[in-house]
Amino acid sequence: MTKSSAGKTTLNPFGMTVVEDYERLYEEFGIQKFKPLLTQIPKPYMSMRRGVIFGHRDFERILNAMKNHEEFAVMSGIKPTGEFHLGTLMTAREVIYFQQQGATAFYCIADVEAYEDNRIPFERSERYAVGNVADLLALGFDPKRGYIYRQSREERVKDLAIIFGRKVTLATMKAIYGERHMGLYISALIQAGDILLPQLEDFGGPKPTVVPVGVDQDPHLRLTRDLASKFRRKYGFILPSSTYHKLIKCLDGSPKMSKRDPMSYFTFQEKPESIAKKISNAFTGGRPTAEEQRKLGGIPEICPIYEMYMFHFFKEDKDVVQLYHDCKSGKILCGEDKERLIEIILNFVKEHRRKRRQNIDKARKILEVK
Ligand code: SF4
Repeated sequence: MTKSSAGKTTLNPFGMTVVEDYERLYEEFGIQKFKPLLTQIPKPYMSMRRGVIFGHRDFERILNAMKNHEEFAVMSGIKPTGEFHLGTLMTAREVIYFQQQGATAFYCIADVEAYEDNRIPFERSERYAVGNVADLLALGFDPKRGYIYRQSREERVKDLAIIFGRKVTLATMKAIYGERHMGLYISALIQAGDILLPQLEDFGGPKPTVVPVGVDQDPHLRLTRDLASKFRRKYGFILPSSTYHKLIKCLDGSPKMSKRDPMSYFTFQEKPESIAKKISNAFTGGRPTAEEQRKLGGIPEICPIYEMYMFHFFKEDKDVVQLYHDCKSGKILCGEDKERLIEIILNFVKEHRRKRRQNIDKARKILEVK
């Protein structure tokens, strides 16, 4: 677990966050439990039903808007540092889910953060951004009911960052993000601008807004909610809500899939043989021998293969439950389980890439890239 010297978990949006015990986050950060709301959600998304989305802040406000068919927005985005993978797929699908439930959707290409955090020049992140937006469209994002933009080109989020800067001290930024170079603090203020952009008059004024993200992004939410209340009188901001999903494991079983280590994940643009090889070599919760596994069963709780099925690739909840029991009882062995997953993933990737190719021109147009 990433911990401070006092033993508390540290949620770090710039770098590596590892959470060993999600239960502790409720107490340490005041994140609310998502499960009690589940029965009230008209059509809960599979990540909600399976506990992958485990926490929230003020999601009740979004729930009311959904139930009463009132206006609300969903806002999230991607740092354009590479091709889509299972981590970025998660947030994209959540944004599309809320859009399909009636939200106006905002999807930010966080190229300022890519520059400040990952040192990726804007010319390079622009190339990734075109692919990332084509991925989003291929997954079902409807651009007619949404707004996709680059931070570096959206003057309104930069203006908000400048205005917000007046009410934030260096001590506050250090308390939230730790000691960082100034560019990261600026990019955090721009992210606050992103989150509150849907509430500007240009987009119809204040409205409930949900930000679905990995829990490592919570510091941005805490900063933005504080700023929303400080600037409530001027803009009428409603405090943004959030949902938090668990962080998907690396293929080697370590706690978070990271773009910084190419062996810990695969992208949807990799050769099928490379994807298959990485999954074949992935860590599992299996036993050293088939005999032991038949006798003792596997440990799905620590298995990235199980997570991939649960987070993304089993459409039916009953299939997740079945795999859990088959694994625990030793009925299924890791080799056959991996073979099945490779087939599912390669089929998904093939179809996704076909749709992505069809959306590349549209993505270039949206981002105004020649
Ligand atoms: S059988 Fe499947 S879920 Fe169980 S440990 Fe092996 S790979 Fe993981």
